[in-house]
Amino acid sequence: MKREDTIDTLRFIKDLLAKKLRNSLSLKLIFAIGSLILVASAVFWIAIVMRGEEQLINSSVMHAKGYNLILERSVKTNMLLGQTDVIQKMLEEIGASGTFRAVRIYSHPEGEVKFASNREDLRMQLKKGTASCRICHSGNSPADLEWTIQEDTQRFLRLSKAIYYENSCSIRCHYHPPHKKLIGILETDYPLSPLDRMIKEQKIATLTFGVILTFLSSVVLCIILWKIIIRPIMLLTDAMERVSKGDMDHRVNIDTKDEMGMLARRFNEMVEELKTARQRLENWAKELEEEVRKKTEEIRKGQEQMIHTEKLASLGRMAAGVAHELNSPLTGIVTFAHLMLKRLPPDDRMNREDLEVIIEQAERCSKIIKGLLGFSRALPAQKQKVDINATISQVLDMIKNQAKFHNVKIKTELAPDLPEIEGDPSQLQQVYMNLLINAADAMNDRGEVKICTRLVREDEKEYIEIEFTDTGPGIPEEHLNKIFEPFFTTKPVGKGTGLGLSVSHGIVRKHGGYMTVKSTPGRGTSFFIRLPVPKEETTTT
Ligand code: ADP
Repeated sequence: MKREDTIDTLRFIKDLLAKKLRNSLSLKLIFAIGSLILVASAVFWIAIVMRGEEQLINSSVMHAKGYNLILERSVKTNMLLGQTDVIQKMLEEIGASGTFRAVRIYSHPEGEVKFASNREDLRMQLKKGTASCRICHSGNSPADLEWTIQEDTQRFLRLSKAIYYENSCSIRCHYHPPHKKLIGILETDYPLSPLDRMIKEQKIATLTFGVILTFLSSVVLCIILWKIIIRPIMLLTDAMERVSKGDMDHRVNIDTKDEMGMLARRFNEMVEELKTARQRLENWAKELEEEVRKKTEEIRKGQEQMIHTEKLASLGRMAAGVAHELNSPLTGIVTFAHLMLKRLPPDDRMNREDLEVIIEQAERCSKIIKGLLGFSRALPAQKQKVDINATISQVLDMIKNQAKFHNVKIKTELAPDLPEIEGDPSQLQQVYMNLLINAADAMNDRGEVKICTRLVREDEKEYIEIEFTDTGPGIPEEHLNKIFEPFFTTKPVGKGTGLGLSVSHGIVRKHGGYMTVKSTPGRGTSFFIRLPVPKEETTTT
């Protein structure tokens, strides 16, 4: 790989890490705590190394002091014995042993080297300001011992020790004035290279140990962070993403008792509630959809009904026009046929029979025309106060002498004290008549008809209900929704016009009421007429 490529790759990784660090909480946490551990452990291990170095030097000083004491004693002994050449020889031998780097004995107060492990040092003058100088010239009382660490090509420990006169000196040979106490200074240099090697090795060991320990503790910390914070957060984030995409069955599986566990449990509860609310909404939507579908169907049926009604209305208007035009010529035909019948001799039976057929057929036409006019509301209604029970009784009086009703038993159950209603009594009687003729036709003029009246309440409004129940064969179910249509009839040609019920329904509607039918085939039919009671007539209950 070329150098430029390597640089590009490294730059990409750096950018990626910087981006990740900026965006990821986990990486931020690891970076922050890792940096903290690194700094803290660096300070800790540096302190340990420094303390170890100090202790090693202290122990070296202690050992050096011991050597110095032995050296001082043997120098003094040789001085008392007057064996100065032995001292010089002893120092040279010590210097050659390698334990000491250099040994020098300075005279006091001249400051001149009298004995030395290196012969070149003899008669060398003590330099001002050095540790050995400070023993006597520190400003305070003379110090017994001074040590310093110095460096030329290598580090070394310099110990400077004062050598004092003793009583035995003056007893033996060396008289010295009482004020003169100091013989000289013993200066010993110990090499520190073994110690430095040891410190270096200790530093490397401590550093290695520190790096390993820091690395291991960082790894352990990362694992702990991963387990207790990062992983739960990732699980929660993932769950939130899945739930937001519509997966309402997904739950977070954290069963710890800490805050993360609590958060997961709350989250799961929240999703459960969301799911329930969503299901409720979906159910509402379905119910609404069903309701809309039903209403649409009702509207569609209503529209069909409206079109049908519109068709019937135009048919009615057309029928009314035709009926009106036909009514006058038909009246003329019937009148003149009657006149001709009167003029014919009684024995002209053939012509009389023909004329009677003309009159009968013309009257039938007239009846149909009247029905058509009624259907189209061409006949105006005469509104007045009507006693329903009275109108029924009058109709019953009218039919009791008719042959058609001779074998029809009519029962009445008329509620007393019914309120009066607003209406046209002759039109209402026409309705009753139609229903009675239909009942008699259905029962082949033989059976029972029951007429009941009652006061009923519906939607806070009062109605008078009139029921006509016969014991006829009933109406087949498929005919029930057609019988109120004009021209629907099951009667033979020439007998039924199919206008009776539609005209009757029209009259009842004109009175603000409505008609219904109930029929069980084989067991009879019941027609119900409901007429509204005017407000002032309404009984307070
Ligand atoms: P029409 O009497 O001229 O047939 P209507 O409109 O009065 O016309 O009646 C329509 C149809 O309703 C009748 O042809 C008959 O089939 C049915 N119908 C009416 N009343 C009854 C009843 N009481 N029992 C059985 N069918 C009836």
